[in-house]
Amino acid sequence: MHIGQHASMPAECMHIGQNACMTAVSGTRCDGKYKHDSRPGRVDMTFDPRILAIVLAFVSSLLLLVMLLNKRLNRDNRQARETFEKAFEASPDAVLVTRLADGMCQRINSGFTRMMGYTQDDIRGRTTTELAFWADPEQRLKAIASLRAIGYCEELECEFVHKDGSHIHVLLNARLITLEGELSVISYARDITAQRQAEDRIRLLIDRLESEKGDARRDALTDGLTGLANRRHFDETLQTELARLHGGKESLSLIMADVDFFKTYNDQYGHLSGDRTLQLIACAMQGVVRRVPDLVARYGGEEFAVILPDTDREGAIRVAEAVRRAVEGMKIPHAASAIAPHVTISLGVVTTRAVDRQHMTDIVARADHALYRAKQDGRNRVEIDCTDSGSIGSKGGISQDQASDESSIEQ
Ligand code: GH3
Ligand code: MG
Ligand code: MG
Repeated sequence: MHIGQHASMPAECMHIGQNACMTAVSGTRCDGKYKHDSRPGRVDMTFDPRILAIVLAFVSSLLLLVMLLNKRLNRDNRQARETFEKAFEASPDAVLVTRLADGMCQRINSGFTRMMGYTQDDIRGRTTTELAFWADPEQRLKAIASLRAIGYCEELECEFVHKDGSHIHVLLNARLITLEGELSVISYARDITAQRQAEDRIRLLIDRLESEKGDARRDALTDGLTGLANRRHFDETLQTELARLHGGKESLSLIMADVDFFKTYNDQYGHLSGDRTLQLIACAMQGVVRRVPDLVARYGGEEFAVILPDTDREGAIRVAEAVRRAVEGMKIPHAASAIAPHVTISLGVVTTRAVDRQHMTDIVARADHALYRAKQDGRNRVEIDCTDSGSIGSKGGISQDQASDESSIEQ
């Protein structure tokens, strides 16, 4: 059998095959599709009907396959579109599709209509800028910048303007999509106005609580009648200042003051006038003691105390004398006083140094003792504690007359 010859091949075909191959050998195509003309140099172009049938069957099968695929694709597309439509409509968020290039509104869902008050007809052919959706145009630019840079923006808190002009706090998520060949933006906005209002209310409550806590703390440390530091505040401050003193400060002074003949004042003018006078005295003391670390306190009843950190004896005497004069200078009438026609106070001064390392109660007792001597020596005067090694004299006190003569203790 010749090359290319098949057992079932008819003789004619075999002949064609042979001739075609012979032609191939002589430099012409050899594919079995041509009939050989018996005349030398001629090729018969007639197709074999069976091969033609095979080719036709193949092509029609291919067409059928393409049609089926196309149908399938169309169905898938329709289903995808329907799914998108349903998701678009069913979203509880307000959904808006805009063109990226100019912000032209393309579609909104019913959630958007519910939240913003606009219908599809309202937005048709208009941009978000024309409709003034954004309360703050800066926020819009921020969202667009993020979309252009990374293709999305997430959890952006911003404010939208409702059709009726009211403002809505929203949480915005947006993505770039291609819609009908155009680069568009699909935005999901969630109304968080109620949440924001609740947060604001909570913040307000916290602020109020903080302020009440501050007030309560202030109340706990303040004397209700005079507004001065109360006894508790005095104790705490003296403890703190003594600890600092032991930590290396030079000295600390304490003044105790007591209103002279105040019982008779109350008897004469009444308790309410007494209260008013205590307030005036507190004011006068505060007016004199103005240095930041100093503390004026109402020690109790008609007794006052002044803590003077980093103050030596001379400084403390100067302050005590200035306080005495300030009270005297108010000339509050006191017809029942045995020593003056007006209200006066007596003061005791103590100064302690780091090396003394004395306890708080000892220092207060020393100041009290000096005050007692001031009372004993005639009242309306400053007495100095002289129990420590650094005392300036055995007597230690300065009378009101001495004080007015000595320029060293002038304020
Ligand atoms: P001395 O010069 O010795 O200090 O005489 P005094 O009368 O001031 O002393 P005493 O301690 O005997 O009296 C203190 C008086 O202060 C008793 C009370 O009537 C009065 N007092 C104490 N606290 C208050 C107060 O808060 N308001 C009023 N109005 N009076 C007070
Ligand atoms: Mg008293
Ligand atoms: Mg008194």
